[in-house]
Amino acid sequence: ASFGYRDVPKAEKARMVRDVFESVAPRYDLMNDLMSGGVHRLWKNALVDTVNPRPGEKLLDVAGGTGDIAFRLLQRQAERGDVTVCDINPAMLGVGRDRAIDRGLLHGLTWATGDAERLPFPDRSFDVYTIAFGLRNVTDIDQALREAYRVLKPGGRYFCLEFSKVTSAPIGRIYDTYSERALPFFGRLVARDAESYRYLHESIRRFPPQRELAERMRAAGFERVSWRNMTFGVVALHSGWRI
Ligand code: SAM
Repeated sequence: ASFGYRDVPKAEKARMVRDVFESVAPRYDLMNDLMSGGVHRLWKNALVDTVNPRPGEKLLDVAGGTGDIAFRLLQRQAERGDVTVCDINPAMLGVGRDRAIDRGLLHGLTWATGDAERLPFPDRSFDVYTIAFGLRNVTDIDQALREAYRVLKPGGRYFCLEFSKVTSAPIGRIYDTYSERALPFFGRLVARDAESYRYLHESIRRFPPQRELAERMRAAGFERVSWRNMTFGVVALHSGWRI
């Protein structure tokens, strides 16, 4: 199942990622529920529980897509919400804005089109940076980490929720079979786009495992870096501080 992904130059990968999310945007939320059996909601809740944002803190959710993380953060901040959603893809943000309106979330949300590698925000402007299922889509992970560090205030916290390396061999085998067979199937069924979901599988396989990502966070300047596995490491939540 070659997507030609391994050999593609940077600009190609960026274009591919854009096409994938543009084509799935209208069905993205349904796909998440189907493919994860709804479990993505638990992972996202766990992220927001860990962030535990205070009212009035300035929060940035990068690769925020259709707003799943932002809506949860905003709810936690109650009447003093301040969440900026940044995503490279206007189609995903468009779906997010519609969802926000449907939910009556009109205050405290800002939507920004922008690249995680070149964030359209000044230095030291946020208390919290989150990125959920986004970092593996970015072309230059280290550059995205440095940008996260740049826009955080000293004392700011960084959180990355992402597919990671499964820590149990038997679970790993089940998971591999599932991702190789079921993901393209769902892709064809719902998004009518099996290629996009082959990309998804490939991007998960290539993403750095827990320890390596932690190292790269440290290299970008973060301190007190740690991670927590969820669902046997299918997903990991990394965190770090800008001191
Ligand atoms: N965070 C959302 C969630 O958890 O449901 C959306 C995750 S979705 C799998 C990945 C998102 O990353 C897409 O909306 C895509 O447009 C965005 N993305 C990909 N490359 C990006 C980049 N370089 N900068 C910002 N966003 C990017």
